[in-house]
Amino acid sequence: MKNTRREFLKLAAVSALGVGAGRLGFLGDAPAHAGALPTVANFEEGLKAKHWGMAIFSAKMTPELIEKCRTACHSEHNVPDIPGNKNIKWFWGASYEESFPTEHGHYLSEDVEHRQFPLLCNQCETPMCVKVCPTQATFQRPDGIVMMDFHRCIGCRYCMAGCPFGARSFNFQDPRPFIKHFNPQFPTRMRGVVEKCNFCAERLAVGKLPSCVEAAGGAIAFGDLADENSDVRKALREHFAIRRKPDAGTSPSVYYIL
Ligand code: SF4
Ligand code: SF4
Repeated sequence: MKNTRREFLKLAAVSALGVGAGRLGFLGDAPAHAGALPTVANFEEGLKAKHWGMAIFSAKMTPELIEKCRTACHSEHNVPDIPGNKNIKWFWGASYEESFPTEHGHYLSEDVEHRQFPLLCNQCETPMCVKVCPTQATFQRPDGIVMMDFHRCIGCRYCMAGCPFGARSFNFQDPRPFIKHFNPQFPTRMRGVVEKCNFCAERLAVGKLPSCVEAAGGAIAFGDLADENSDVRKALREHFAIRRKPDAGTSPSVYYIL
């Protein structure tokens, strides 16, 4: 009985953060929680912003550093390591052409043209994925973070069709056998559910910066785009930055400093 109650509180806490409990799961044979999940009370104490945003110093993001950030993100969020075209990605690297397909025709330096760029959900100000979701499984918080409530996801993949950035992945199969490093503090997902980067909402809730920002060691600035004294605004004030596919009209909150 005690265990059942603990499980319920655990799931209720996750639901409060916008990651519902129904179609997510905890690994069957995994050890019980090592620590407390973020609670609503912690959320009140966590990092806050009017509009969370990110500025990536792309010249500093070597393929090795991108891989380090990817591993940090995927380990933190129980992202399965599935080879082939059914892979799941929250953070990944891509060429300039793939990252900025509408920016062609410029006479770029070879360095920029051959650089790898880290990609993730852009936490768009006007997210197409939210507009097309029929069940409100994906929704936007007041601070701009576009969240997934896995419980409400019916797997229709409208959000994947709506996202111009390929930032969402679909679980064609049970992802849990493919998780390399299980984090008991974050829920696992199930077959038939869409997932993506959540700007580490669960870490912000307990006063921590996103995993990729921490792993990047200064190569990613993160903060409140509405606060002119924030790290991210300082980075954008001092450097030239571009966003992915501005013509798509979604207004990404992730900037790339060239
Ligand atoms: S990048 Fe795609 S998934 Fe992320 S908020 Fe924008 S439209 Fe939605
Ligand atoms: S902000 Fe968090 S969830 Fe998003 S890519 Fe970075 S580590 Fe992953």
